Amino acid sequence: MLTLSLLFAVLDANVVSAQNVTSYFESERLTQILNKVHALQLGKVGALVAQFDTSKNWNWILAEGSLPENTNAVTQLSTEGAYTIIDMDKLKYATDLSLARTIIHEMVHAHLLLSFIYKNVNASVEYPGIVRAWAATPTPDYNAIQHQEMAESFVDDIALALKEYNYYENRFTDNSVYIDLAWGGLDFENNVSLNDYDRKRIQITLAKAQLNGYEKAEIMTAFQ
Ligand SMILES: [Zn+2]
Repeated sequence: MLTLSLLFAVLDANVVSAQNVTSYFESERLTQILNKVHALQLGKVGALVAQFDTSKNWNWILAEGSLPENTNAVTQLSTEGAYTIIDMDKLKYATDLSLARTIIHEMVHAHLLLSFIYKNVNASVEYPGIVRAWAATPTPDYNAIQHQEMAESFVDDIALALKEYNYYENRFTDNSVYIDLAWGGLDFENNVSLNDYDRKRIQITLAKAQLNGYEKAEIMTAFQ
């Protein structure tokens, strides 16, 4: 995994910086997808994008790196801001929409991390569930707490953002596909608002988007 100091040493990659969002992606494709995500305007995701562009110290840094098994991307706090690492080895077959979903998901993590650093009072009012979950145990799993918040209050807006993304690409699909993709990275297996049929459909939609026709045999075994 890249350390932050190493991250800043790798400056020969495609360095893209717009306001407070800085990326060091090696992949031109990923850079372009980030730029398109950065142009989204609708719903909560659009508001998050605007916040990154207009808020002091609201820094989000992105790079590629190797991550542990079953981890495609992570976002953590650093002294420079929130920083995201995406493991493109694991996502090399993913559709553009699936990669946009990954970036948006990590952007929500970055937003939640920074919210509690720089706007503590507002964040506590806006995300009381996070405050409660944090206080409920001496060893809180902050990633899981953020995922719970996303499951409760971001799935529809991530879906809307994916629909907006596809609209600008002149691609169209059923709204249910955007919702299914928005569950990516979240604990849909145990969510009580979903039934077994929903969970299986979400699992297959996510697997198809990530593998994009490759490794079909693996879908049959790993995702059923
Ligand atoms: Zn996550």
